[in-house]
Amino acid sequence: MNVASQVAENLARVRQQIAGAAAQAGRRAADVKLIGVTKYVTAEVARDLFAAGLFDVGESRPQELWKKAEALAGESIRWHLIGHLQRNKIRRTLPLVTMIHSGDSLRLLNALDQEAAALSRKCDVLLEVNISGEQAKHGFSPAELPALMPQIAGLSHLRIRGLMGMASLEGDRDRARREFASLRELRDRLRANCPPPIDLAELSMGMSGDFAEAIAEGATMVRIGSALFEGIAA
Ligand SMILES: *Cc1c(COP(=O)(O)O)cnc(C)c1O
Repeated sequence: MNVASQVAENLARVRQQIAGAAAQAGRRAADVKLIGVTKYVTAEVARDLFAAGLFDVGESRPQELWKKAEALAGESIRWHLIGHLQRNKIRRTLPLVTMIHSGDSLRLLNALDQEAAALSRKCDVLLEVNISGEQAKHGFSPAELPALMPQIAGLSHLRIRGLMGMASLEGDRDRARREFASLRELRDRLRANCPPPIDLAELSMGMSGDFAEAIAEGATMVRIGSALFEGIAA
């Protein structure tokens, strides 16, 4: 099978699995947005994904996002940055992305707000929360976030749309599910006494190995890479 057909077949399968997980959770498949993570493949394969009907695409490294966005300029792809953003890369990244899932520190949020202000635009951002407690992970700790919300709400050029989290690398699916549940519960608590401009509707959680668990716990966005590229040489 050629690459384009393989990608289309994988996409159909993943969409079906998402629909199945949503149905099982009593949710609508339309309420779970698939973000195709293209970090393992070339811009050409990312284009195949787009051609197969997936318009929301994510990259974890800013430089790789720049490269692919440039190669695919002219396509109406919505780019999501899902990995750590260094402040010196904000200027070049901001105009290219529809959403930044990895708002992982107050310093970054401040810098994003300033740059968005300079460009006279708003920036859609998710707050990344370190739900696994792993040292290597970026993100706010669940304990610190509530007290920071008033300050974050004051960043007038950011639209804080929700939370993002990743399950621990080592854990099994049950543990992933508990971690996703903890992100949803944190979101609900923050929402209950959140300053008005913040709505926190989005929960970006779930990857190839654990998206069913994430959907069961309320994910509105799943970030899926490897499952979309099975059978394709890297
Ligand atoms: C790579 C990556 C994904 C996708 O991972 P897969 O297991 O390949 O689906 C999702 N989120 C982030 C932040 C990633 O870096």
